[in-house]
Amino acid sequence: QAKKQGGNGFQFCSEEMDTRAHKALELEGDLRQALQLGSFVLHYQPKVKIASGKIDGCEALVRWNHPDKGMISPDDFIPLAEETGLIIALGEWVLREACRQFKAWQAQGLPPIKIAVNLSARQFLQSDFVESIQTILHEFDIDPHWLDLELTESMVMEDPDRIAKLLAELKQIGFALSLDDFGTGYSSLNYLRRFPIDCLKIDRSFILDVASDATAASVANSVIGIAHSLGIHAIAEGVETREQYAFLAMCECDSIQGYLFSKPLPANDLAALLANPTPFKPTT
Ligand code: C2E
Ligand code: MG
Ligand code: MG
Ligand code: MG
Repeated sequence: QAKKQGGNGFQFCSEEMDTRAHKALELEGDLRQALQLGSFVLHYQPKVKIASGKIDGCEALVRWNHPDKGMISPDDFIPLAEETGLIIALGEWVLREACRQFKAWQAQGLPPIKIAVNLSARQFLQSDFVESIQTILHEFDIDPHWLDLELTESMVMEDPDRIAKLLAELKQIGFALSLDDFGTGYSSLNYLRRFPIDCLKIDRSFILDVASDATAASVANSVIGIAHSLGIHAIAEGVETREQYAFLAMCECDSIQGYLFSKPLPANDLAALLANPTPFKPTT
């Protein structure tokens, strides 16, 4: 407690801030170096269609393989990458790596699936974003409809008019578009109607209690209803139990993503799943 140290409270705080700033600086340096050394990897989490039980896409999730600290989760470095602008280079690496992996799976004779990539606001709002993503697709000779761009709800609502134009441009090119973490931001349903998105990803926090809490169940059901009234797909994030799955199936949610079916996997493990497809039909 700062106050108890007499007149030194202020200094105590600023020392703590110094340490924090120092740590952030250190991490920023590490991050810069990691980009040069190629210390990032993508893991892929399958998305499963409830009606067929089949994998109908996957989401690429970045991890940092740090020399001393081991695998670092994106929540621990994406915010810093955004602040420092490194997200531009990192985001481009993610797109390129996802495309490279798509082609590698194709070369192995696996059935193609859509790959979803998460975008940051700062990356998406770069003036040359559309051009740079198209350059990458041409480089790998991939049809844009295999790429699903995930934008968070809070990010699109920051500047909805500008975003609506950008989304229309991307849709026109042929990308699939998903609204991530849906329900945690403040969407205007009127804007939502104008965004040419294909899929609402219902945030995990809405899925958590659907099997045990009537209000949570009713809210989740309504969110699925919103997606369907917009004429788009609903996918539930963070599905961990058969009970949640059964409830979502009953509400006619289109797809699920979560530990119940699979955690995010290294590329080879996802390839093994694609090579030996067994429809997912959990019973409760
Ligand atoms: P997100 O896009 O909402 O991704 C879903 C997160 O939920 C992932 O965490 C995933 O591993 C986790 N998850 C999936 N199923 C379950 C489940 O059943 N239970 C639980 N408890 N968690 C589950 P992860 O990989 O740590 O990523 C966290 C966030 O970091 C992502 O949230 C996304 O916003 C961001 N992120 C990840 N990769 C990238 C990237 O390449 N670029 C950008 N800009 N952001 C990224
Ligand atoms: Mg996502
Ligand atoms: Mg999400
Ligand atoms: Mg989420």
